[in-house]
This record gives sequence, structure tokens and C-alpha cells, in this order.
Amino acid sequence: MRAVRMTAPGVLEQVEVPTPTPGPGEVLVRVGAVGACHSDLHILDAPPGVFPVPITLGHEIAGTVDTPGDGVTGWSAGDRVAVYGIIGCGTCRGCLRGRENECRTVPVGGVGLSRDGGLAEHVVVPASRLLPVGDLEVTQAAPLTDAGLTPYHAIELARPALRPGTSVVVIGIGGLGHMAVQILAATTAVRIIAVDSNVAALDLATRVGAHHVVPAGPDTVDRIRELVGPAPDGADVVIDCVGVDATLTTARGVVATGGRLLLVGLGGGTLPVRPVADEPPTVPFGTSVEVPFWGTRAELQEVIALGRAGLLAADVQTFPLDRAPEAYDLLRAGDIHGRAVIVP
Ligand code: NAD
Ligand code: ZN
Ligand code: ZN
Repeated sequence: MRAVRMTAPGVLEQVEVPTPTPGPGEVLVRVGAVGACHSDLHILDAPPGVFPVPITLGHEIAGTVDTPGDGVTGWSAGDRVAVYGIIGCGTCRGCLRGRENECRTVPVGGVGLSRDGGLAEHVVVPASRLLPVGDLEVTQAAPLTDAGLTPYHAIELARPALRPGTSVVVIGIGGLGHMAVQILAATTAVRIIAVDSNVAALDLATRVGAHHVVPAGPDTVDRIRELVGPAPDGADVVIDCVGVDATLTTARGVVATGGRLLLVGLGGGTLPVRPVADEPPTVPFGTSVEVPFWGTRAELQEVIALGRAGLLAADVQTFPLDRAPEAYDLLRAGDIHGRAVIVP
């Protein structure tokens, strides 16, 4: 079969590989669609040794069951499925609590992370990683598994603070951010303020439900503070889906006293936190900072329900498998809006 693999650190190419065989408890899935996540670029850029090579990338997968392995019950050929990408160790505290996204192996254990992923005609996954998607289009189901699930989990963490009328700032309206805006619009009555450095991303934010858009720039913090008004003294929740120094500076500049910062983007920036009383602190007093990772299987089921209800839909640009490397080049250049989805 054809597969797009990281054959050496930083090298992505299409190759021919044998179609894998499912072991006991596993299922061979015919890949229908796989989302191109910005994290794949971080994987390609990671130092040698962090991720195995060669490895087929792609951790945002939907398709149909092809062949269930020995001992698998409940799944038959043709079932339409989404793949929950994390494969926890099964024994640590996070796994025992059903929070595999807090497994001690995070962030490197999973489909397309520690074993072959979905940028191929077929992928083998443990049967326990499959969720039914009903009649959702595969190109819609795939982005739900990460671009949808990750912001959904972050928003769940902040749920008690998301009172009607409060303000939420979403920074970075790409694959994750444009889903975050929709999840907020569908499940809360908050005021949504979207920030991006790209005009097309801000247009997308407006189309999917943001109430205000603010271009990233020198006056971003002042403009958001003007929108939010004097009381509270900032945004109650800030979701940074970029995570570079510039966006972290904006995030801590606009968060309210007692507010919450959710750092989702893995852009490599640093958030300084220095508690002091005699000078402006680096973050306001009472701020909580969370660094959420992906989401739980139970949350993915809820995200799929939002998708099936028509309340959450990725803005998708499709590419055939042999153009996957080009899709990643466009993603790196900032020329993908919404989610690039590869259709093998
Ligand atoms: P993306 O490339 O689709 O979107 C990024 C968006 O950020 C783009 O719209 C871009 O214009 C905007 N942007 C870039 N620099 C900016 C800046 N300085 N100011 C304002 N906007 C800026 O990426 P994605 O797939 O949505 O992923 C976003 C980040 O989230 C990546 O770092 C990815 O690795 C990370 N991620 C984290 C998790 C997790 O579990 N924590 C899961 C998935 C992805
Ligand atoms: Zn991802
Ligand atoms: Zn574990």
C-alpha cells in the first residue's frame, strides 16, 4: 500500500509498504481521511530519538473497518469509525481514571506518534481506539479526533468559568482554533474574541461564530481590553492555540485577575510566572495556567455528537495522499485555513 512516512528526522515522503496485518485485539482500518495537524510539523522538526523512524505520520483518522483481528467483537467490515489517537500505558493513574490524555507516556504514545499512523491506505489500531461516527463524512469525522477534541477538552477544563456574558479570547484560528470558536458558540453563551495574524483566518473566525476579531499586532492587548471593558479587568478565559512568545505575551496581557490561561499550542514559547506584590506581576493574581493535552475517549464521543448534530464542522481543504507533503508545506507557510485533510 502507499504510505506517507517520516523516513528520517525532518524527511516526509510517499513510499510503498506492506499492508499491515491486525494482531489480536486490533483492527485493520481502511483510511478514509486524515487531518494534517500542526503537531506533525513539530514531530518532523523534533530532535532525532524523540519519535521513531521510519514512521507513517497522521494521528487524526477516520475511515471504515476492513478486518477485525482475533478476539475483536463488536466491529465488522464496513463500520464507519473515527480513531482515538492516544494509546495510554493502561496502568498509570491517568489511564486508570480514564484520562489517557494524562498518561505518563504523553505526548509520545499513540497512532502516528509511537506507531504507524493514518497517512496511508490502511492503518492498524487497537479495537478499543474506535468510535462509531454514523453517517458523518469521513473528511468531517477525521478533524474531530484532534482539531475538535483538543479544544473541547480545554474548554471542558474551563467550563465552570464560562458563565453567560463572560469573554473568551481564542488566539490562533487555524485547525484547532476555528473548532474552538465553534465549540464555544455551540455550548456556551460567552463573548468570543478571535485573534490571528492572518486575515483569512480572521474571516474564518467570523464565519464560524466569533463575535469580534482582532488582528495580532502591537495594539492587540489594548484592543481586546477595550472590547472587554473595565470590569472584569480582562478576559475570563484565554485559549492560546499557537504558544509562541508573542501569543503568550498577548494571553497574559489580556487575562482578567482570577482568569484562566489554557496553553494548547506547542509553539515553543515561554510564559513567565513570577508572583510579586511590589511591581506589575507577570500574570495577574488569581490566574490559573493549564497546559492541556488532547482529550479523553469520552470527550471524543461528545465531540462526534456535536459533529453529527451539525454544530461543529471543520472548514476542510482536501488533498490526495501523494500531495500530502505539499499540504504540510502549505501548513508550514500559513497557507492552510481551517484543516487540510488528506484523502488516501
Ligand atoms: P494551524 O497551523 O492550523 O493554526 C495555527 C494558527 O495560528 C494559524 O491560523 C496562524 O495564522 C496562527 N498564528 C501563527 N502565529 C501567530 C501569531 N504569532 N499570532 C497570532 N496567530 C498566529 O495549527 P493547528 O493544527 O491548529 O495547531 C495549533 C498548535 O496546537 C500547534 O502548535 C500544535 O502542535 C498544537 N496542538 C496541541 C495539542 C495539545 O494537545 N496540546 C493538540 C494538537 C495540536
Ligand atoms: Zn494533532
Ligand atoms: Zn498510562
